[in-house]
Amino acid sequence: MSETISQIIKAFEETHHHQSMNQLATLYAEIEEQTSRFRDEYSIACGPGCGTCCEHFNPDITALEASLVAAYLLLEESKRPLIERLYAEGVDEGPCPLYNKDSIYHCSVYEVRPLICRLFGSSASLDKSGNAVFRRCKYNEEGTMPALLTFDKPVATLQSYSYALRSLDGQGVDLLSTQVRALVEQLQFLISLIESGDDDSPLAS
Ligand code: SF4
Repeated sequence: MSETISQIIKAFEETHHHQSMNQLATLYAEIEEQTSRFRDEYSIACGPGCGTCCEHFNPDITALEASLVAAYLLLEESKRPLIERLYAEGVDEGPCPLYNKDSIYHCSVYEVRPLICRLFGSSASLDKSGNAVFRRCKYNEEGTMPALLTFDKPVATLQSYSYALRSLDGQGVDLLSTQVRALVEQLQFLISLIESGDDDSPLAS
């Protein structure tokens, strides 16, 4: 688990968000390890400096995923200006409001990025017949990914990772911009209660 995520979880340790954030961070850490191994084993890499997927993508995420992103935006001073972007007109149509073409990873919240962003181009998925396959990202014009892989042994898929995520958060998904806006408002209120030392807050555990 990264230092940044540990600090976020610690900041919310007196609240009912603590346990679910911790579970999500544990899942993300497992996924980092598994997708890194998967990319190494099958020689999969994005093209140098490519972030094109984020330019065409306002991902659907769960409220739990949004809680980690929102907490990061609120707690990291340098990231707060990004909150304004979530309220910009037309933001829900994409591209992702957290995309930054000048950043090395092109993601302003790389350490707390949602599940799909961790898996896109880094995991197998199930085809219509239920077989695990890996297909080259359509933006990978450099051909740094294999065009098609099939597997003769069981591999984790996008669907199995999504199932693991949903088991932590029974709610549905919505656009990142919508979900993070809502969680920024909730967590901002919670942070103000924590800072004012209101131990009777119904949000405190
Ligand atoms: S959260 Fe980050 S990685 Fe995911 S789509 Fe947005 S900019 Fe890209």
